[in-house]
Amino acid sequence: MRRTQVRDALVLRRSPLPSGDVVATLLSPDGIWRAVVRKGRLPGGNLARLSLFHDVTVQYWRCGDDDLALVTQVRLNGALSGLTRPEAYPYAHLLAELAAALTADHPVGERWYALVASGLRGLNVHDDPEAVALAYAWRLIATAGLAPTVDGCARCGAPPDRLAVADGTARCAEHGDPHGSDAYVGEGGMRDLGRLVSGSLGDAVAAPPSDRPPQWRLLRRYVEWHVGTVRALEALLRPGAEGRAVAAPRPVPGTPADPAPPEPTPC
Ligand SMILES: [Zn+2]
Repeated sequence: MRRTQVRDALVLRRSPLPSGDVVATLLSPDGIWRAVVRKGRLPGGNLARLSLFHDVTVQYWRCGDDDLALVTQVRLNGALSGLTRPEAYPYAHLLAELAAALTADHPVGERWYALVASGLRGLNVHDDPEAVALAYAWRLIATAGLAPTVDGCARCGAPPDRLAVADGTARCAEHGDPHGSDAYVGEGGMRDLGRLVSGSLGDAVAAPPSDRPPQWRLLRRYVEWHVGTVRALEALLRPGAEGRAVAAPRPVPGTPADPAPPEPTPC
């Protein structure tokens, strides 16, 4: 007998199927999961309520533990409509993709859910979404246990001016890699990075880095090494769009980032 279940969730991704149905990737307090929502006959139905970055309560059922959940009801708790602004959307996409990458092999908890929700809500309303994105991207990395140590040179304790990306440690000019593999941001940039990585979120957003492009390049190198390729970050940093979402193309909500999954079969 099929059993209906209910979960709170944030919609991180939508992949349309040829049939018109959609597979949604959802972040809930107990993990990331995927569910199919059937195309409906009425506008504003489940499919619309399960739009990208919506905060929802989902009722669903599934045939077996390994099957995709099939959505039967969606209640919209918050629309976060500010995330569709061109200056905010690429950063929301970045936080969603980074959160999914960081939790791919781990169960997430209430703390993760609250952090991602807080980041998306911050992007939704803040007039400097880039500052919010930098702060939350590093906070997600730190929450996954991957934060670098940046408060002093790992060799001598002197004020550092660069990050040894692979080691996740700070270095001074004297102890930097002579082969140039470190990410150089200067002493001021390392103080900014320290605030992003281990200061309060409020301080990190209120006092963002004075020189942001080097911070984005450093973040990309760090994420590439420790997490893997995050396409939303690559898009932000492509030539001409570095760190400036306003210059990035606005993705179409619902555009599949991956090939469409196979059509689910009813049981
Ligand atoms: Zn040193």
